[in-house]
Amino acid sequence: MTAQSYHADLLIDLGAIRRNVTVLSGLARNSGARTMAVVKSDGYGHGAVHVARAALEAGADSLGVATLDEALRLREAGFTVPLLCWLYTADVDFAPAIAADIDLSASSSGELRRIAAAAAAQGRTARVHLKIDTGLSRNGSPAELWPVLVEEAAKAQADGHVEVVAVWSHLACADEPGHPSIDQQAHRFQRAYEQARAAGLTPIRHLANSAAVLTRPDLHFELVRPGIAVYGLDPVPQHGDHGLRPAMTFRSSVVLTKRIEAGESVSYGQLWTAERATTLALVPVGYADGVPRTLSGRMSVWLAGKRRPVVGRVCMDQLVVDCGDDAVAVGDEVVLFGPGDRGEPTAAEWAEKIGTIHYEIVTGMYRPRVSRTVVDSREPA
Ligand SMILES: *Cc1c(COP(=O)(O)O)cnc(C)c1O
Repeated sequence: MTAQSYHADLLIDLGAIRRNVTVLSGLARNSGARTMAVVKSDGYGHGAVHVARAALEAGADSLGVATLDEALRLREAGFTVPLLCWLYTADVDFAPAIAADIDLSASSSGELRRIAAAAAAQGRTARVHLKIDTGLSRNGSPAELWPVLVEEAAKAQADGHVEVVAVWSHLACADEPGHPSIDQQAHRFQRAYEQARAAGLTPIRHLANSAAVLTRPDLHFELVRPGIAVYGLDPVPQHGDHGLRPAMTFRSSVVLTKRIEAGESVSYGQLWTAERATTLALVPVGYADGVPRTLSGRMSVWLAGKRRPVVGRVCMDQLVVDCGDDAVAVGDEVVLFGPGDRGEPTAAEWAEKIGTIHYEIVTGMYRPRVSRTVVDSREPA
């Protein structure tokens, strides 16, 4: 087998996506809930189209994205399942979304009216999810305006312009199991649901993100909306091992090796100096390819069978690995992060080192110079 040399490549394992969705949709099914796989921001950087396909194969029933453009692109790619989007600009045109049978979130009477008007103009019925703000204070209707919103929605439904599919909300602190806000939000959510019922609506409910899917079966209701866990990154690792497998591996390959003498320094600023003669490996990825420059001096890579330190500054296009006296060769594969089972670093490890969350690491990796290779491991779960 001839190894291919990678400049900067994201290996996306659809087998891992399927396995994760099997876990998540299994938990949902135990509570009688369906599963919406969230594939916003291009599938958290993994590629929305192939992730969506794998997720639907493994037990997801519907898809969720943030923007209308993201939803329309999935329809164009041929997905016919229910597809929800929830974030619009002031001048949004709902007509293409309604024509494409996209479920639309409404957080205000204004949004609802514009959705209903666009549906009426096409002689169609728009599928609407009414969003209540239960404590995140992002979008969603404030509780004071909710009774008016549900009354107007009931009227628009009676007129045939909208079908109120769901009442929904989003949790602020689900990744901190036991946080008092979770029960408070659940309580406010239940109240909003009862008000919708009292207005004559018969919506389903959905509230749970990945963390709540994993830790709060009582909050699964009729539908759950996992995102990050679909990609195998656990938002609540402190809660135990959920059997998730990271789907993204970031890899490159050695483009040059050289010996340097003791006393020679490496990279901009000459921040690192060899204490003895050593072999360096040059890897053609840098901060332009998603390697945070703030990891300079405190990261390692998997190369030639073990973890080895990156020495000196991470540059825009390159970084340098200290290989001691070991044999490394041009063309050798370099794994910057992956699932972690060979001992390579993980996206979670990068995130912890630079003070962020693994969500931000993976969603920021796909860039103009970075390729994506999709594989389907079909390994037993
Ligand atoms: C991103 C998002 C999700 C998924 O959240 P995860 O923490 O990634 O599981 C669910 N619902 C809404 C509204 C979102 O914006």
